[in-house]
Amino acid sequence: MQKTLVIIKPDAVQRRLIGKVISRFEEKGLEIIGLKMTTISEKLAKENYSIHNGKDYFEKLIKFMTSGPVVMLVLRGENTIEVTRKLMGATFGYEATPGTIRGDFAMSKRFNLIHGSDSVESAEREISLFFENGDLMQNKQSGVKWIYDDAV
Ligand code: ATP
Ligand code: MG
Repeated sequence: MQKTLVIIKPDAVQRRLIGKVISRFEEKGLEIIGLKMTTISEKLAKENYSIHNGKDYFEKLIKFMTSGPVVMLVLRGENTIEVTRKLMGATFGYEATPGTIRGDFAMSKRFNLIHGSDSVESAEREISLFFENGDLMQNKQSGVKWIYDDAV
């Protein structure tokens, strides 16, 4: 099954939205197989967002992402990367569809609450930036068969 990295960004932590954001993923049926709270170093923030290096918003993005604690999740499930991106909503909060995380809670371009990997390659790269292999749960959670259509 696919894995993805989610970062609950500093604005969401300061606005006390950690629980609400995590609930969206749990309720959808994705498994949380890695979880930690940390403050991202400038070096790792720059690596995570390396494709944006050179953009006019890059320095401010790095300043924001390193400005306070974040919560990191590794999610597992079928098509997790696409499902997670759909739950997050469009990049800019004011454009995101209501019902999505950004659509319900964000108004800004930069303070948009959450990061999610955008491809299998970036998910693998980003997960390995922030988690050791041994940090991730390997066993399937018992409820998973009631999420997909293989319970009966
Ligand atoms: P993320 O990578 O954080 O999950 P995303 O994949 O929806 O978001 P990207 O295009 O990868 O969007 O942009 C990365 C981040 O850079 C955005 O989340 C946003 O915070 C910031 N960003 C992107 N474009 C702009 C912009 N024009 N002005 C300000 N910030 C921007
Ligand atoms: Mg992105």
